[in-house]
Amino acid sequence: MTHQLRVRVCAVLAAALLAVSGGYAYGAPARDDMDLDIETAVQGVDAFWDAHWSEFFTETYVPPTVLGEYDGASADVPTCDGEPLADDNAFYCRTDEDYLAWDTDLMRSGYRYGDAFVYLVVAHEWGHAIQNRLDAELQTVDAELQADCLAGAELEGAAQDGTVVFDSGDVDEVRTALVRDADQTPWTKEGDHGSASERVDAFATGQEVGVEGCLPQEASAEGASAPVR
Ligand SMILES: [Zn+2]
Repeated sequence: MTHQLRVRVCAVLAAALLAVSGGYAYGAPARDDMDLDIETAVQGVDAFWDAHWSEFFTETYVPPTVLGEYDGASADVPTCDGEPLADDNAFYCRTDEDYLAWDTDLMRSGYRYGDAFVYLVVAHEWGHAIQNRLDAELQTVDAELQADCLAGAELEGAAQDGTVVFDSGDVDEVRTALVRDADQTPWTKEGDHGSASERVDAFATGQEVGVEGCLPQEASAEGASAPVR
């Protein structure tokens, strides 16, 4: 995959997530609230992998760098593989730079409709970082669906660990958001991205089955013990 494709894929996610109109928060939360939610998501997902990585994979969990918020409209935009990060975007930089980042405006726009938005963005991008740590046989053909699945596994796992409070209503809203993503994003290309139902199913599988449910069946059957990168 080229760098351009990686960026495009994440731009699509961002655009799709922004299509969410169902709210579970009233009014516009203060900036501090959003930052706290983002930090909670980061710490919860990271703690999940730190505690559970060895249940699924060999070697040890190495967390990605969390660059966090950036202003894509500013003159000093961070770069990935030498290219400036796109405005109103969120993604995982797959090069050796190995970092996660999200545009502040993107997060704020989505957050107006509910806090689950930022949890989903963080968990989905973290899912891409996890994919990049796995051997090829543990990665699925559709990277976006696997990231959606891992997001479900991460958030449910973090909730069970008590590091993230994510009630069933939020999960339903995330599912709705994924459906609306697929409905409204022009970038969807058959074969590259899942349909709405496929995305919802992927998130639900991760939530209900956990990480092993996000791995290719053959690899899971072998115990998902193949060496990681
Ligand atoms: Zn993605």
